[in-house]
Amino acid sequence: MRIDLHTHSSASDGTETPAELLATARAAGLDVVALTDHDTTAGWGPAQAARPHGLTVVPGMELSCRWFPSDQPPISVHLLAYLFDSLHPGFAAERSRLRDERLERGQRIVEALAADGYPVHWPEIVERSDGGVVGRPHIARALVAAGVVDSVDHAFATLLNHRSPYYAAKVDTDVREGIALVRAAGGVPVFAHGLATKRGRVVGDDAVVAMTEAGLLGIEVDHPDHSEAERAHLRGLAADLGLITTGSSDYHGTNKTTPIGACTTDPAQFEALLAAGTGSAPYRD
Ligand code: AMP
Ligand code: FE
Ligand code: FE
Ligand code: ZN
Repeated sequence: MRIDLHTHSSASDGTETPAELLATARAAGLDVVALTDHDTTAGWGPAQAARPHGLTVVPGMELSCRWFPSDQPPISVHLLAYLFDSLHPGFAAERSRLRDERLERGQRIVEALAADGYPVHWPEIVERSDGGVVGRPHIARALVAAGVVDSVDHAFATLLNHRSPYYAAKVDTDVREGIALVRAAGGVPVFAHGLATKRGRVVGDDAVVAMTEAGLLGIEVDHPDHSEAERAHLRGLAADLGLITTGSSDYHGTNKTTPIGACTTDPAQFEALLAAGTGSAPYRD
C-alpha cells in the first residue's frame, strides 16, 4: 500500500487539474491519495468524478493558520484537514474569509511590485489562478514568465520571500480555532510540515502540546522539507502525545520539483485516520 496524504491541484496552487493529479497518482503506483488544496474544497467534486478505478481518494484541505507565541510575532502554521463535512456552515464561512484574504493580500503584493517597476499585473494573476485559490506561486510564475526571475524557487528565495519588502501577510485562522472547526465538521486535523524551517519560523513543542489539547489528532512527520533529525523529533513528540503520524509529498505539479509519492504514510496510521474522520467518506471502489 502506497499512501500520499498531501497534494495540491489547480483548485489552489498546483499545476494539474484534479483529474490530471489523480492520473499522475495512479501512474506513480499510489493506492491512496488525499487532495488537500489550500483553503478550498472546490476540487472534491471533480476528483470524485474523475477517480481512476482502484485508487482511493481522501477528500481533504490545507487550512492557513497562525500560532501566537507569547514572546514573538505570530507564526504561520498549516493545518491539514481530512474527511470533514464541506457543508459545515462555520467552517465553510472561515474558508471563504481566507480566500477573500488571499485575494486582497495577493493584490497588495502585486501592486507593490508593480509600483517599483516589476512587470506584473493583478488581472494577469487572477487569470493564472483560473478560478482557483490565489497564492504566491501564481505571482512567482508571472515573474518567471516576465523574465524577472529564472524559476519559481528563485522568486520565493527573493521577491516573494517572507523577508522581502514586497511580502504581505494575510490574516490566517488562529490554529486552535481552526482545529475546533475541523473537529466540529467531523474532520481529522493534522499539523502540516511543522518543522519546515526553510519556510520561515517554526513553532516549539509547547505549541504542539497546546494544539493537541485543542483537539489535534495527527502530525505530518515524513515531508520533503523535514530533515532526518526533524522527523525523529516529530515522531517522538507524536508518540508522547498519542498523535497519528503521516507522510506525504506536498505535490504541487511543476510548481515544485518534488514528485508525487515522495514520502508516504504507514497503512496502520492511515487506518487510524480513517477511523477518526466522520464528516465525509473516502472515494473508493
Ligand atoms: P501563500 O499560500 O500564498 O503564502 O504561498 C505559499 C505557498 O507557496 C506554499 O503553499 C507552497 O506551495 C509554495 N511555496 C513556498 N515556497 C516555495 C518554493 N521555494 N518553490 C515553490 N513553491 C513554494
Ligand atoms: Fe502550496
Ligand atoms: Fe503547507
Ligand atoms: Zn501543502
